[in-house]
Amino acid sequence: MHPAPSTPQPPRTQPQGWRAQLLWFPDPQSHKVRHETDGLLVTGRDDDGVVRIQAMGPYRELAEHYPKLPTTHWPGLCIAPGFVDMHVHYPQLDVIASPAEGLLPWLEHYTFPHEKQFSEPAHARETADFFLDELLHNGVTTALCFATAHPESVDAFMKAAQARQLRMIAGKVLQDRHSPDGLRDTDTQLSLRQTEDLIGRWHGVDRLGYAITPRFAPTSSAEQLHGAGDIAQQFPDVWVQSHLAENLDEIRWVHELFPQARSYLDVYDRAGLLRPRAVYAHSIHLDSADRRRMAETGSVAAVSPTSNLFLGSGFFDYTASDAANLRYGLASDVGGGTSFSPFQTMHAAYTVARQSVGRPGVSLAPEHLWWQHTAGAAQALGLGGKVGNLLPGCEADFVVLNPKATPLLARRTAQADTLAEWLFAMGVLGDDRLIAHTVIQGQPVTDNRA
Ligand SMILES: [Zn+2]
Repeated sequence: MHPAPSTPQPPRTQPQGWRAQLLWFPDPQSHKVRHETDGLLVTGRDDDGVVRIQAMGPYRELAEHYPKLPTTHWPGLCIAPGFVDMHVHYPQLDVIASPAEGLLPWLEHYTFPHEKQFSEPAHARETADFFLDELLHNGVTTALCFATAHPESVDAFMKAAQARQLRMIAGKVLQDRHSPDGLRDTDTQLSLRQTEDLIGRWHGVDRLGYAITPRFAPTSSAEQLHGAGDIAQQFPDVWVQSHLAENLDEIRWVHELFPQARSYLDVYDRAGLLRPRAVYAHSIHLDSADRRRMAETGSVAAVSPTSNLFLGSGFFDYTASDAANLRYGLASDVGGGTSFSPFQTMHAAYTVARQSVGRPGVSLAPEHLWWQHTAGAAQALGLGGKVGNLLPGCEADFVVLNPKATPLLARRTAQADTLAEWLFAMGVLGDDRLIAHTVIQGQPVTDNRA
């Protein structure tokens, strides 16, 4: 396969200004947030074709340095970092809102039959187009995404993301056992070669990235997992994504299938699949040795609270994860998750943290919730300084919030006494209506008010 050609870039353009309130993380390692009531963001295209933030700060200080800057003014609205979804399945778009008796029956009855259809490129492309537009409508500008076992499903997704100039990461699912016909890799070595071909075709093209994607330990043979681990060592800047310790029935099954492994995590460890840029969805039922091992290898957790509540899987343990220095960020996990909206995910994360089992629940600070879905998620993905923040040098993908989008939001946010209260009200009450615009590469692509 030849590498896909990069999209021809428009010529370098004059900088653009965006005047509104600003919300950002001055130190991306910390969830301490800053808010500017009348700010200016300046964006412009660099020589590599990427539009980045060139400057940001109070309008009254910055505007005089840009006397002829064409500026869009959004009074009453607030520019904030684009949301980063650390774990989502585009082929499960039509599985969202399907009931089931937990994870394994849900996979068997809904997910696998739907995913079979993605051998058909036209179906894959139509779904990818709808899915990406839905992400943008909800203010999600970057996602780490599962495709299906069919290489065509990756091509369709990448083409759709490329056409929208998005920074997206995706990969072909590896699953060579315990999967139905039409979705199972019938030739393990071929599935690994397909993975390498797709890396060559898509990784690093425009703003696209590839993720080596074993579905989860029960649906891959040891040979496939080790093969995936070999590819992961060969391409250290490629991502790895899988599921880990989501559900107790699943964990029992993993112990039966891999009796020599100390834990579920150890199955991936033995295969060479723990390293920076390795992202494990859920990571709920772990012990302290697992959490320490994830932290020391630089592997991270994608916390998927709406999915965990919906499927009754369990609660991510924030306290134990922080104690182990395990890094994490938020994810929708659609279709197990029930909403594309980052606000619904933040709300569910707050609820999950309150439920911490066996110890008093924690009350996550609103700025921490936002950080987990923006700058913190970007850091966990190895994309710190590129997405999820408004600092100069970051790519110009951002959202514009309308805190008065609904009568209730307007009433509640107007009564917030502190920045934290204001953020919390939006995090709990918000949905896609709160996103007035999503801006990708300096171009507004969504206008919910139109
Ligand atoms: Zn998932």
